[in-house]
Amino acid sequence: MYSRRKFIKDGSLAAGGLLLASSSFSNFFIPRAPKVVIIGAGFAGLSAAYYLYKKKIDFVILEARNRIGGRVFSHIMDQKENLVIELGAEWVGNSHERLQNLCNVFGLELQKNQFDSHLIYQGRYYKNGEWDYSEGWKKKFQSIIDSYSKLTHADKLKLDKMDWWRFLVNNGCEGRDLDLRELLDSTDFGETIRSVSAFAALAEYAESSEKNEMDLKIKGGNSMLAKKIAAAIGEEKIKLQHKVNRITQNAKTGVTVYCENGQVFKADKIICTAPTFAVKNIKWEPGLPADQINAMNELQYARINKNPLLFKKRFWKDESFDMVTDQSPHYFYHATKNQNSKKGVLISYTIGEKAAVVANQTDDWRENMVMQTLKPHFNDAKEEFERMTNYYWGNDMYSHGAYAVYGKGQWFRVMPILKRSHIHTHFAGEHLAEWQGFMEGAINTGEEAAAKIR
Ligand SMILES: Cc1cc2nc3c(=O)[nH]c(=O)nc-3n(C[C@H](O)[C@H](O)[C@H](O)COP(=O)(O)OP(=O)(O)OC[C@H]3O[C@@H](n4cnc5c(N)ncnc54)[C@H](O)[C@@H]3O)c2cc1C
Repeated sequence: MYSRRKFIKDGSLAAGGLLLASSSFSNFFIPRAPKVVIIGAGFAGLSAAYYLYKKKIDFVILEARNRIGGRVFSHIMDQKENLVIELGAEWVGNSHERLQNLCNVFGLELQKNQFDSHLIYQGRYYKNGEWDYSEGWKKKFQSIIDSYSKLTHADKLKLDKMDWWRFLVNNGCEGRDLDLRELLDSTDFGETIRSVSAFAALAEYAESSEKNEMDLKIKGGNSMLAKKIAAAIGEEKIKLQHKVNRITQNAKTGVTVYCENGQVFKADKIICTAPTFAVKNIKWEPGLPADQINAMNELQYARINKNPLLFKKRFWKDESFDMVTDQSPHYFYHATKNQNSKKGVLISYTIGEKAAVVANQTDDWRENMVMQTLKPHFNDAKEEFERMTNYYWGNDMYSHGAYAVYGKGQWFRVMPILKRSHIHTHFAGEHLAEWQGFMEGAINTGEEAAAKIR
């Protein structure tokens, strides 16, 4: 039986095969190569561009921001110490083959970025290894994961109609076990598990690596891959601060793409990798079909706030330190693992309502909040604190969230509608991927969209 991910992989191979077939046909008939406008220089747009570049198909990337990478956003936290942290995507999964392949191609080193989780729960601090789920729930959860491969399509549709919290409760998860699952799983999805499709959650846990794809990171920051692809395809092919605001498409004459800065581009095809919020803000002529607009209106994105705190000393001692808490800072992790310095950065990673609250406060407020959680268990936290920065994805003007959250009944109903091409436009981006919510998914969909260009 097909798994969620195998299906898409084989689909993209088939598309690649078609492309090859049509180019060998060109020995007899040489059609004019299409020109392509790619909207967005995130991982979906860049991987689409790299695919077209290798096929010698002409393209231009139009990017609204003044930087490439999109939701991959490495940031230097301390210039002198060269401490680089991620304001967007952090982990590369052990199962994320395309991303790892691209790192190989461009000579980028992937460093181990796995963590050993500590816990603060109901006022008590537990070191890694001192806490766990109950034996009964561990056994039950394993049996649920094991049964995933036997689910029929009808079972999956039924599961998708339920939220992950309800599914866990129905399977006997309760009390402390349920609290812990909510804390850990909401960190993965960026919102409470009461708003996540049970199918999407189960598929992710059943098909992911042991550490749930929190395995690796690109040395020097994940943005290194964006830079390498940009250099390979030619930086002049990427037009920064070119926000697309209108698109006209004609079945016979192709497309015209208008930017807010007055620039106009004519092409044959478009690959649009913008998140749904940004897609809807473009004036499409003719308009997008009503069901596609409804699907965009339905889909929510996770509110994640990243609050990196620079400390003069790594008082948490363990280089692989991360910590889940049932308090306002939610989840902490050591963001400068593998980076040589006395100083270090802990990121407080908040989700959902917590993120929205934390994002709206002052740095002093955030410092007090973090210290209230850390100080009782880590004496030196306050003395060693140097400064912080903050990025709230819920207010990001292009995505209004970190990544899509497929809720009850949405995975099988909403995603296929969003994936549909519109005249000459193929859509891509993490929200359309089997590895949804991951850099890998963005790359997969970018390559799949590019493979459709003939
Ligand atoms: C806080 C956070 C944590 C994450 N953690 C992980 C993780 O640990 N591991 C992982 O694999 N993934 C993680 N992700 C998800 C990952 O970052 C995304 O899945 C991926 O980067 C999305 O790539 P994309 O190309 O689909 O979209 P984007 O990166 O958003 O690219 C789309 C681009 O389109 C541009 N754009 C939008 N509208 C227009 C317009 N009108 N005209 C021109 N350009 C436009 C945008 O500016 C953007 O650059 C995380 C994301 C966030 C925010």
